[in-house]
Order: sequence, then structure tokens, then C-alpha cells
Amino acid sequence: MFRYIKNIIKGIISLAEGMGVTFKHFFRKPLTLQYPEERPELSLRFRGRLVMPVDEEKGGVRCTACMLCARACPNGTITNIEKVKVDGKPKPKPARFDYDLGACMFCNLCVEACPFSAIIMGDEYESAVYDKKDLKLELVSENYVLKGKKKEWWKNKFKEPAAVPGERKKND
Ligand code: SF4
Repeated sequence: MFRYIKNIIKGIISLAEGMGVTFKHFFRKPLTLQYPEERPELSLRFRGRLVMPVDEEKGGVRCTACMLCARACPNGTITNIEKVKVDGKPKPKPARFDYDLGACMFCNLCVEACPFSAIIMGDEYESAVYDKKDLKLELVSENYVLKGKKKEWWKNKFKEPAAVPGERKKND
């Protein structure tokens, strides 16, 4: 009999504890968003797909077509980096830069390898397509313009001294 009453009391205490947690959350600001009408505010370090933003001060992309990013990519995601040619001579400027979003694992190694901060993992996360071919992107012709806080963050990366290989940059 004593054990029976003890179990009832334990049950009531457990129920009260559970209700306590429920009430605590009842008055908190909701964490869920009514997606897609409501969008999350992304962290600056969020890794969406790779983009090659236009540097408005420079008047073009910052890439020099040095291929370091392509060599750093473990998946061979970056291919066909071609240099602009003037009078048959290659210039340190990309004419073409292919990126396969379908093979990308968002490791950021290409971004870290780039000595010019020419590429960055952007904020785009809605990348679903019907045809896998549509995941093959050419970044130079996109003339991608970064916006908002991420643009300022990216600009500050140029001002940093070049990273020592193997070391992480401060803003990464
Ligand atoms: S994005 Fe950077 S690492 Fe890649 S080719 Fe251009 S300058 Fe070189």
C-alpha cells in the first residue's frame, strides 16, 4: 500500500515537472519560422553555394585564374578555369570558371586556398533543380553581387594579410 501511494506521488511530481517545462516554453519566443514566407538570418560563416562576387572598387572579379582553388578541392568541383587572352597572351583574369554544385561538399577548402579572397561560400541554400545539369555553374559570367552584412564581411577579408598555408584566416 505504501509503495502504491509512493508511486502516485512520484507520478504527480513527474507530471508537474513536465508541465513546468511546457509552460516555460509556452511563454518563450518561438524558434520556428513560417518558411518560406519567413527566412532565417544567416550567420556570416554560413556556407551556401560558391560564388565569385564582383568587387565594385576593383570593377570586376578578384580572381587571377591561378588554379589554387581547383587544386585544393578534394572533389574536383572546380574545373575549366580559363584565362582572358589579349593578343594571344594569357592575362591574370578569368574568362571562365566552372563550378559543379552537385559535387560540392561545402568544405570551404577552395575559399581558404584563394590568396585573393576571390571566391566565397554565399548565402544561397535553395539549390534544388529538376535536372542535374543545372547544377553546373559558370561563375565569371554570373557577375554575382554580394549584399548586406556578408558584403562588408567579404570586403574586410581583403584587408587582412595573406594567410600562411595551413593557417585559418581571421574572418573564416
Ligand atoms: S578563385 Fe582564387 S584560388 Fe581560384 S583561381 Fe581564382 S584567384 Fe586562384
